[in-house]
Amino acid sequence: MIADLQLVIQLQGLDLKITALENEIARLPKQIAGIEKALDSHQRKLDVDRAALSANQKERKKIEGDVLAHQGKISKLHDQMQQAKNNEQYKAFQHEIDFCQQEIRKCEDRTIVLMEESEPLDRNVKAAEAELKKEKVAVDAEKATAKDRTAADQQQLAEMIAKRKDVVKEISPAVMVKYDRLRKKHKNGYAVSEVIDGRCQMCQISLRPQYFQEVRHNNDVLPCEMCMRLLYFNPPAVFDHDINSPAFSKV
Ligand SMILES: [Zn+2]
Repeated sequence: MIADLQLVIQLQGLDLKITALENEIARLPKQIAGIEKALDSHQRKLDVDRAALSANQKERKKIEGDVLAHQGKISKLHDQMQQAKNNEQYKAFQHEIDFCQQEIRKCEDRTIVLMEESEPLDRNVKAAEAELKKEKVAVDAEKATAKDRTAADQQQLAEMIAKRKDVVKEISPAVMVKYDRLRKKHKNGYAVSEVIDGRCQMCQISLRPQYFQEVRHNNDVLPCEMCMRLLYFNPPAVFDHDINSPAFSKV
């Protein structure tokens, strides 16, 4: 195989690895942003439940205070009742006491509702807190892995880029121009194509038999007549069927 052909195959391999590394380096921060966003939304949901639970507890405390105030008022009214000068005054105090007792019952009813509401909230908050704790550990681990991966990728990328420079130096300028143009033209980044069974592996066209004979020698950098990619032929490994061959005689 001529040097230019060997070099473009090598260059193709390097360029594909470089692209894969660049893609991964670009993808990792997006992946991290995605898991952080999920964590954030779980945190926000927990905050909402916590706020609801806290409002519930606050209201219950306020009601407890109201009940105490009503009870205090009732006891005061009882004292005043003792000193009622006539039946009308007595009835008025009794009326006020009834009102306070009604208010206490309302408070008690509301407390029951609040207690019922707080149970699932409390459960949700406790479950979410435990879940979030685990999730944070997982996210931190994933972030650390991504960081290590990015560092390793960047190092490998630098090595590949350096190697690429060395390879490019060796390639004839005319071949390099063709290679660059083809790499830009084909979105999959393949500028070089292997020929297997007389077919270009990239566009699948069958080479004309005469052309295939030229290509299979690998003595020139020849384009595919359909996709224009630079062709090379990798002869298939031949299995030796001769039972008298040394490979068999050893068995
Ligand atoms: Zn082709």
